Amino acid sequence: MTHFSYKNKQLHAEAVALADIATKFGTPCYVYSKTALVSAFNSFSEALKKRGHLICYAVKANSNLAILNLFARMGSGFDIVSGGELKRVMAARGDPRKVVFSGVGKKAEEMSAALEANIMCFNVESEGELLRLNEVAGKIGKKAPFSLRINPDVDPKTHPYIATGLKENKFGVDYADALALYRKAQSLPHIEVTGIDCHIGSQLTEIAPFIDSLERILALLDKLEKVGIAISHIDIGGGLGIRYRDETPPNIAEYAAALFAKLGKRRQKILIEPGRAMVGHAGVLLTRVEYLKHNRGNNFAIVDAAMNDLQRPALYGAYHEILPVSQSSRPRRTYEIAGPVCESADFIGRGRKLGLAEGDLLAVMSTGAYGMSMSSNYNTRPRAAEVIVDDDKTTLIRRRETTDQLFSGETLLS
Ligand SMILES: *Cc1c(COP(=O)(O)O)cnc(C)c1O
Repeated sequence: MTHFSYKNKQLHAEAVALADIATKFGTPCYVYSKTALVSAFNSFSEALKKRGHLICYAVKANSNLAILNLFARMGSGFDIVSGGELKRVMAARGDPRKVVFSGVGKKAEEMSAALEANIMCFNVESEGELLRLNEVAGKIGKKAPFSLRINPDVDPKTHPYIATGLKENKFGVDYADALALYRKAQSLPHIEVTGIDCHIGSQLTEIAPFIDSLERILALLDKLEKVGIAISHIDIGGGLGIRYRDETPPNIAEYAAALFAKLGKRRQKILIEPGRAMVGHAGVLLTRVEYLKHNRGNNFAIVDAAMNDLQRPALYGAYHEILPVSQSSRPRRTYEIAGPVCESADFIGRGRKLGLAEGDLLAVMSTGAYGMSMSSNYNTRPRAAEVIVDDDKTTLIRRRETTDQLFSGETLLS
C-alpha cells in the first residue's frame, strides 16, 4: 500500500501528512488517494484490454461524486443498484449508456428513470421483475435492454453475509429456470435480450468460484444460441477480494487471465462490476483517541469514529489494520479500539498492540470500500468528512454533516 506510508515517522497520504488533514478537516475523516484510485482503474483496464470490455464500477462500494466523476473521466461505466445511484452517476457526469442496473427490488419509477436515461442494460433478477420491466417500457414506448442475473449456485467461500450466488440466496434466478425466462423475455414486445449476468459475492480470495460460475454461464449461453437467442455481452459481476490482513486474493491480471482462458474464442463483450478492488485500498479512516480506559477485563481506546462511520467490523467481524499516524516508542498494550456508540458491537478493531496516549490519531486502513457508503447517523452522529489527496494537494469532497441537517426533515406534533 504505497499510497499511504511513513515519512519521518508521520503517516502520509501521498505527500500530505494525515496529521495536517486532521487539523484542517477534523476527525473522523475519510482520506482517499487519487493515485491509488487511478491506478486501480488502470490495472483493470490493462488486464482486460485484449478483449472488448466495459468496467462497470459498482457504485455502492463508494459513491462519492468526486470518485464517480474521476472514474467516469477515465471511461468507466457503472453498476447501480437503485434510482438514487443513477442520479449520483448522472450528477457525477457519468455516461448513462454505460450503466447496468442490478438489484432484486427495482421499483417501477426506478425503471422508468433508467429507461428515460437510456441505460445500457437491466440485470433482471426475477420473472416478476421481467414482466414489470416490459410493462414500464411499454408505457414509455421503449424497449428495455435485458440481461438475466443467473444464480450459478457456487460457493464463493466468503463471509455468509456477502455470498450472493448460492441457491439459498435472494439474488438472481435459479440456473434451471434461466432458459425458460430467456424465452419469455424474447417473446415480450418491450424487452430486448442483450446479455447474461452473474455476481456471486464479495471479497472472494480464490479464482475457482469465478471460473465455476463462468463455466455455468457459458453452458447456458450455448443453449441460448442453439435456440436462436443472441447474447451480445457477458457480465461476470464483481467480487474480487483485497488483502485486509493475510488473505491472498489473486491479483487483477491473474484474475482476468483465468477468465479469458475460460472464455476462449467467444466474441461477446465482457462486462465486469468491480467495487471493492477499485476503491478499498485507496482510503483510510482517520480518527482520534478520545480516552484510554483500563477496565479490569480489557484496555480500551475510545476513538471518535464508530460503527456508524465504519460498519464492517461490527457487521461482518471484518479486520482493518489500524496504524498510529505518528510513530512513537511508547510501551505497547493490547487495546480494544471502540467508538462512542452505545452498542457492544461498536468496535473498530480488537486486540491491537499499540502505544497510545489520549489525543493520538489513528488511521484505519483499507476503508475506501463499504466504509463511507455504509455509514449511518445512528446515535445522531453526523457523518464524516471526505477528502481526496492528489500528491501534495488536498480537496474536501464531502463536508462533514451538521447536526441540524440530521433532523431538518422532522417536525413536532401540533
Ligand atoms: C456489490 C456488487 C458488486 C461489487 O462487488 P465488489 O465485491 O465490491 O466487487 C458488483 N455487482 C453487484 C451486482 C453487486 O451487488
